[in-house]
Amino acid sequence: MTAATLSPARKTAAVRLDGVSKTYGKGAGRVAALKEVSVAIPRGSFTAVMGPSGSGKSTFLHCAAGLDHPSSGTVRLGDTDLSGMNETALTKLRRKRVGFVFQAFNLVPALTVTQNITLPFRLAGSKVDKGWLAEVLRRVGLAERASHRPAELSGGQQQRVAIARALVTRPEVLFGDEPTGALDTVTAKEILGLLRSTVHDMGQTVVMVTHDPVAAAFADTVLFLADGRIVEAMPSPTADKVAERMTHLGAWS
Ligand code: ADP
Ligand code: MG
Repeated sequence: MTAATLSPARKTAAVRLDGVSKTYGKGAGRVAALKEVSVAIPRGSFTAVMGPSGSGKSTFLHCAAGLDHPSSGTVRLGDTDLSGMNETALTKLRRKRVGFVFQAFNLVPALTVTQNITLPFRLAGSKVDKGWLAEVLRRVGLAERASHRPAELSGGQQQRVAIARALVTRPEVLFGDEPTGALDTVTAKEILGLLRSTVHDMGQTVVMVTHDPVAAAFADTVLFLADGRIVEAMPSPTADKVAERMTHLGAWS
């Protein structure tokens, strides 16, 4: 084995996009949502994705997570190239290897906290590791709420359930599309602190779309999208630096 293959720089990224473009529609209605995007997201890192409304943030997240097919280019999750995979294979990959948290908590009202969290296992027909489930419940601060139903929980607690549901399958990457978008600022900070701690304590890889500079400042790196391209990768972001950068990028939603 050569030195190059051992150096950290050669370690496989958690997610890697190479020349990814995504075009919607045809003819006059054609929209280039992503244009030749290339980025490698290191394992155990927290990445925020920002950009004006319509800049391609959701498209980026969906392509990176195997929810959508790029028009061209390649997406790799670890060593797996998603390009050639059919819908069935992608569905399996999404269930086992990635986790999602959305702005809407998407919990099943009739199910308890534990039942909601273990739903991915029931869908996949696989067994729950009870010890790990207890550990995840403890980490998200819901150990005392395991038998409650979503309606009995605050918004922040409901989002904790969604995060636990995403973490329980030990995903290689946790993707969030505005995960704190529906929460008040205090609760949002608690949830961001929780995401941060999954990265710090568990080595989780997190990729999160946000429009909030304060939320972005919890990340290790902020990727700025404008008109379908990554125009900057900002390391060690602060809310002020992010806000300052945003003012130069156009209309924000
Ligand atoms: P963002 O999340 O940054 O607001 P999106 O990724 O949702 O941006 O969208 C990027 C561009 O692609 C926008 O111009 C949007 O209108 C367009 N777009 C997104 N999804 C679709 C779709 N399913 N069909 C057609 N156009 C789409
Ligand atoms: Mg979006």
